[in-house]
Amino acid sequence: MSQVYLWFKDDLRISNNQALSSLLNDSTSNKRALFIFDETEYLLCEAQRWWLAKALESLSQKLFLLNINLDIVFEKPAIFFEKEIKKKKIKKIIWNRSCSFEDNKLEEKIKIILYKNNIDFKEFAPNLLNLPDEIKKEDGTPFKVFTHYWKKSEEKYLKKINTIKFLDISLPYSKNKNNLDNKNIKKIYPAKKWYCKFEKYWQPTEEKGAELLNNFVTQKISNYSNNRDVPSVEGTSKLSPYLRFGQISVNQIMKKCLEIKNKNIGFRKYLNEIGWREFCHSLIYNFPGMIKNNLRNNFNKFEWSKDLKFLEKWKKGTTGYPIVDAGMRELYETGWMHNRVRMITASFLVKHLRINWLEGEKYFKDTLLDYNIANNVSGWQWVAGTGADAAPYFRIFNPILQGEKFDPKGTYVKKWCKELSNVSDEFIHQPWNMSEELQKKVKVIIGKDYPKPIVNHEEARKKALDAFFKLKK
Ligand SMILES: Cc1cc2nc3c(=O)[nH]c(=O)nc-3n(C[C@H](O)[C@H](O)[C@H](O)COP(=O)(O)OP(=O)(O)OC[C@H]3O[C@@H](n4cnc5c(N)ncnc54)[C@H](O)[C@@H]3O)c2cc1C
Repeated sequence: MSQVYLWFKDDLRISNNQALSSLLNDSTSNKRALFIFDETEYLLCEAQRWWLAKALESLSQKLFLLNINLDIVFEKPAIFFEKEIKKKKIKKIIWNRSCSFEDNKLEEKIKIILYKNNIDFKEFAPNLLNLPDEIKKEDGTPFKVFTHYWKKSEEKYLKKINTIKFLDISLPYSKNKNNLDNKNIKKIYPAKKWYCKFEKYWQPTEEKGAELLNNFVTQKISNYSNNRDVPSVEGTSKLSPYLRFGQISVNQIMKKCLEIKNKNIGFRKYLNEIGWREFCHSLIYNFPGMIKNNLRNNFNKFEWSKDLKFLEKWKKGTTGYPIVDAGMRELYETGWMHNRVRMITASFLVKHLRINWLEGEKYFKDTLLDYNIANNVSGWQWVAGTGADAAPYFRIFNPILQGEKFDPKGTYVKKWCKELSNVSDEFIHQPWNMSEELQKKVKVIIGKDYPKPIVNHEEARKKALDAFFKLKK
């Protein structure tokens, strides 16, 4: 008998899920939910495989309570759907559009197959405030400057917010456990066991996402403007992996934020960051070439260094610059890194080490739980100065001053670089300047217990600027 299929992608939640509500309201009794795992999509996304497996386990339990079975399929989606069509199994397919540019291309391909075979389908909006191709300049071209983009995008969203339906689904209580095939879930978990430590830091469930949002809006948003740049303070929402997998919708976030009575600068700044997420998705959608190439093509001639030893030291957090090393170690340990430190570590790679941003982008893709192509590529190109509305290449972050400004007591550095625990505030961001006597006293010998800086800041800065000014000639 043919069935109505619900195709999950990056919308692994039951609340405020339009496609799921549509399935539940469908008169057919024959319903099936699917997640199609295409291994090639997750080849270099080790950390995310852990989150995905956990999120699917949690989702399948909820769907079970709604009498819907979640099947995990291991095949290319187009091949899978074609086979199902041949077996006359599909009556209709329902899905929420993905936020991922790659998945959007796939959705278009599936739509062609469905049209050809006369199969009904229904698609709903992606987890964005506006569609990525919706916000354009007066002349119809896409924006490249954030402030102009966000002004128009936010205005459009606020005009339509009252028409957005918030679809809450209540789950019946049951002691029974679902019957999700464990063998299938095991295939999703990453091969390396490094993910076990993530369990200490994260709960990849929809409920946890809602709890984080609530705590953030009631306790943190008012100080967000100050705290968001301090990596030792949990001053940001930490919702990024939940957003990535759609365990929370951006509409839910906006609704909660707009309910705040005191809409102070913290509120404004937070909405701006949500705006950056929108902007990044619009950029990738309109300029897909930037996934692999510099958006500013004058950078195509930039002389990047290919020093693999330096790249490894950066990945391992052994560059000798404490704020950079702390960030890279936080990333490896928790699958997440604070935004300010993402900027510092990325800048160090592309400017101090002059390594192509694509290498950093690839490593973040593999290790970030919140990795999404739009934010990651745009974030890297922004730091490298090769992207839209980017920090100019010649503005080079000084990792010592950044550390002193945003982590003055070294609280963050000492959390992730334990060997520097006894170093005083004066030297915490430049431990190599301690005398030998002091190094012995604080029990960290530079070059033995903690690395010497792999490059000298001033020299590296000069080389980066020389390489940059060569482009101009
Ligand atoms: C080099 C680099 C790579 C990055 N890669 C990613 C990535 O792969 N995935 C990702 O979600 N973010 C990425 N970011 C953006 C940002 O660092 C994270 O979104 C943020 O740190 C997530 O933490 P949070 O949820 O606590 O953020 P909050 O400060 O609480 O912000 C709320 C939400 O706004 C969005 N947001 C915040 N800052 C940015 C930003 N600068 N650009 C776009 N959206 C933003 C995120 O969706 C975030 O969850 C990257 C930034 C840089 C500089």
